[in-house]
Amino acid sequence: MTDTLGVPVHDVDESPRNAMTDTLGVPVHDVDESWMRHALALAERAQREFDEIPVGAVLVGADGQLLGEGWNLNIASHDPSAHAEIVAMREGGRMLANHRLIGSTLYVTLEPCAMCAMAIVHARVARLVYGASDPKTGACGSVFDLVADARHNHRVEVHAGVLAKEAGNRLTNYFRAKRGKPPLLLEDHAGEG
Ligand SMILES: [Zn+2]
Repeated sequence: MTDTLGVPVHDVDESPRNAMTDTLGVPVHDVDESWMRHALALAERAQREFDEIPVGAVLVGADGQLLGEGWNLNIASHDPSAHAEIVAMREGGRMLANHRLIGSTLYVTLEPCAMCAMAIVHARVARLVYGASDPKTGACGSVFDLVADARHNHRVEVHAGVLAKEAGNRLTNYFRAKRGKPPLLLEDHAGEG
């Protein structure tokens, strides 16, 4: 059993270095966390500037370049499909001049819904990294599991739970504010509210 470079697969799998770093030797976790922080900043902007539900998304190309940014714009743009993921993928498609976002990674602060999950599959996104789970409409394992369905002809690698607490707390506080309740302290709040 060897991979394409002739390296025994067994050895590669057992190497801690390969388990923790990408092909450039950059710790995968650090890259994911820093892009997720970028997505969280967009979520915060959605709430502050547009009073939209604070969800942010960032599309990153195979070479690590930023391809698209998005946040929820349903209310502002009178568009039922303007979820953060769709907005980021539209921008990425324009940037690449291609409807297929081959090799890209989509970072989003909240588990995608069914619409976005299918758009991610259609777009051939290679990797999906999301923060908080969505027990009400999540379609990447919580309510539906559309992205991992083996019947698709494209497989998306999914990594959940990156900065989940931060993303979840922001959403919780947004909805608490809508109901006239005081915000929970981000640092101290560990539950679902
Ligand atoms: Zn969605």
